[in-house]
Amino acid sequence: MTIWQTRAAALYDGGFRPMFIGGQWVPAASGEVLEARNPATGALLATVPKGGSADIDAAVAAARRAFEGPWSKFTPFERQALLLRIADRFEAEWENLCLSDTLDMGMPISRTLANSRRVIGMLRFYAGQAVALHGATIPNSFPGEILSQTVKEPVGVVGAIIPWNAPIAGSVWKIAPAIATGCTVVLKPSEEASLTVLMIARLMTEAGLPEGVLNVVTGTGSEAGAALAAHPGVDKIVFTGSTATGQAIARAATGNLKRVSLELGGKSPVIVCRDADIDKAVPVAAMAVFANSGQICIAGSRLFVAREIHDEFTRRVAAYAAALKIGNGVLPETEIGPIISDRQAARIEGFLSAGREQGATVLTGGARLTGNDFEGGNFIAPTVFGAVTDDMVIAREEIFGPVISALPFDTIDEVVERANATTYGLAAGVFTTHLGTAHKLSRRLKAGSVWVNMYHAIDPAVPFGGVKMSGYGREGGVEHLEEYLDTKAIWINT
Ligand code: NAD
Repeated sequence: MTIWQTRAAALYDGGFRPMFIGGQWVPAASGEVLEARNPATGALLATVPKGGSADIDAAVAAARRAFEGPWSKFTPFERQALLLRIADRFEAEWENLCLSDTLDMGMPISRTLANSRRVIGMLRFYAGQAVALHGATIPNSFPGEILSQTVKEPVGVVGAIIPWNAPIAGSVWKIAPAIATGCTVVLKPSEEASLTVLMIARLMTEAGLPEGVLNVVTGTGSEAGAALAAHPGVDKIVFTGSTATGQAIARAATGNLKRVSLELGGKSPVIVCRDADIDKAVPVAAMAVFANSGQICIAGSRLFVAREIHDEFTRRVAAYAAALKIGNGVLPETEIGPIISDRQAARIEGFLSAGREQGATVLTGGARLTGNDFEGGNFIAPTVFGAVTDDMVIAREEIFGPVISALPFDTIDEVVERANATTYGLAAGVFTTHLGTAHKLSRRLKAGSVWVNMYHAIDPAVPFGGVKMSGYGREGGVEHLEEYLDTKAIWINT
């Protein structure tokens, strides 16, 4: 038994974990619960409340009371100090937070410990921003001594709805800018992964976050999520999830015209040019999809490779994929963990069948993994498809699993056109050693982020988000703060 397995047994014992409303740990008004199961083993970790519209009402009311009450008295410097204390609290509990994610949604502990750490940087970045918010004094065309100025004010109660694939980063990226700007939050985690978000609420409270500033309502999307999106007491919705749900949320938000920002799905292209450094590009292009078992919105799942190097490159990506260590994320050597649920794994299997039926060839993987090491879990082998054409389902739809579609190309103009021929526009990758090609492609690709000779870089200081049906609004950077702020114009006749 590894140290992580020993600690896992102490972290979750199958018992009930209440949700967090108005500073209180409470069950659902209905008394109903949802099960939280480990996707690597099927073991029951805990039960959580199945919150519904009554619980959302209570959470929104608590968030409103805090917004208009004690929280509004906090100075920017006090909010900054609070964010810094939260960052310290996260640092102290970092291993437990990461382990919770590994147990609840499967991300390998080795990956969480290293990659999710930027979350602490995120808290400290927004601590800095809290004291830098300001308006401006603006010259105007009126005669006389008339002063016109702007002030930045928090939008109010923010409803945050997140998916299951990165609970630590996903929740903190919504909460930290809210604290920096003086908003309050009602957060609805995914029904597939609520436990780490509840732990985050506890850590933030221990660091001194006042009652009602953060409320966490666990529950399903169709009940708690839909109630939050439509709630007239919510001023702003920040959502991360699928494009179809984003559309439903945008429609629901029209009732009180609440502001909405949407971080949605993708079908991101990775373009490997003839002059790419192949040794460096192979592992990065592979992990552009296989990291987190392909359950990442930015997965570079359309791998366009220059025809001259296509066969060699895809063979090497397939060999890299075949050598990845797949298994339970609590084992330190595991590189690729499970898929979140049996339902999601079955959906991915459907894409594997569709790929074969439409004539693509499996270069590696292509199946669910079974046997002793995978007993009770939902594991799919990292898969590389060759002989893919742009019209195949696997090249068009977001799979959200460990599946690469390799596509040869001949010219830069052609690959730009094909890469952009998708309804999505979240991210893109380019591998080239030619500076001009790097510039040309990064400007012409329609995507919120373009990475050249790298992939996956996401930083608290750099804005992230999509274009087209990958959504609107930005997270990260100072752009994110504007999503949580209103600009008020004040005129004074002196
Ligand atoms: P999902 O859209 O099914 O669910 C996301 C969240 O929305 C969950 O909390 C769910 O309970 C809730 N929800 C579902 N229906 C709802 C409704 N009608 N009203 C309100 N809330 C509702 O997505 P998922 O399967 O959890 O996550 C995978 C998707 O998320 C993929 O499409 C992926 O690309 C996307 N994603 C995007 C980003 C990004 O930053 N762009 C990051 C991670 C994931």
